[in-house]
Amino acid sequence: MTGNHFSRPQRRFFLKVLGAGLPAAFSIRASSAATNGKGLVKIVEFDAAGVRTGVVEVEKVEKPLAEWKKQLAPEDFEVTRRAATERPFTGRYANNHADGLYHCVCCNTSLFDSKTKFESGTGWPSFWQPIAKENVRLRSDDSLGMHRTEVLCTRCEAHLGHVFDDGPPPTGLRYCMNSAALLFTQRAKSGSKPS
Ligand SMILES: [Zn+2]
Repeated sequence: MTGNHFSRPQRRFFLKVLGAGLPAAFSIRASSAATNGKGLVKIVEFDAAGVRTGVVEVEKVEKPLAEWKKQLAPEDFEVTRRAATERPFTGRYANNHADGLYHCVCCNTSLFDSKTKFESGTGWPSFWQPIAKENVRLRSDDSLGMHRTEVLCTRCEAHLGHVFDDGPPPTGLRYCMNSAALLFTQRAKSGSKPS
């Protein structure tokens, strides 16, 4: 009832503002309101055995830095949210040879399958392809006086590492990742539910 009571004068005020041709500030607000809830991305989901279960449209994970800092271990935070690079040969997965999947440490999106991990000798976990091209995003990175291609998590934009074109067959690519951006889970039997 009260809503009805107030809605009429408000509507009249709105029309007046629009009619007065004030739309600059108004349209910025309108467009940001219009994108609310539309921060959707498509990623591919996998079960715990690493079997592709389908493409899903999910909301992007966006949080203030302070919240990421609370959620993540200090090094994981520096790498994923501030694009730091862990020291080589120090990360938790540089020498991990177990069979399983690597997920985003921030949002748990599946990123790499151990079947594509190889010994690069760099001291960073290296893969010749992501588990699904939809699950990572590439961005040009000209920092530190070099031209590199940065790899980010599609869903939460975590910095993961860089991709280079000196990898092994069949792709010739080397996804040079930071262990601190990844979370490994052992492969379960086919048909298991995702973790
Ligand atoms: Zn993520």
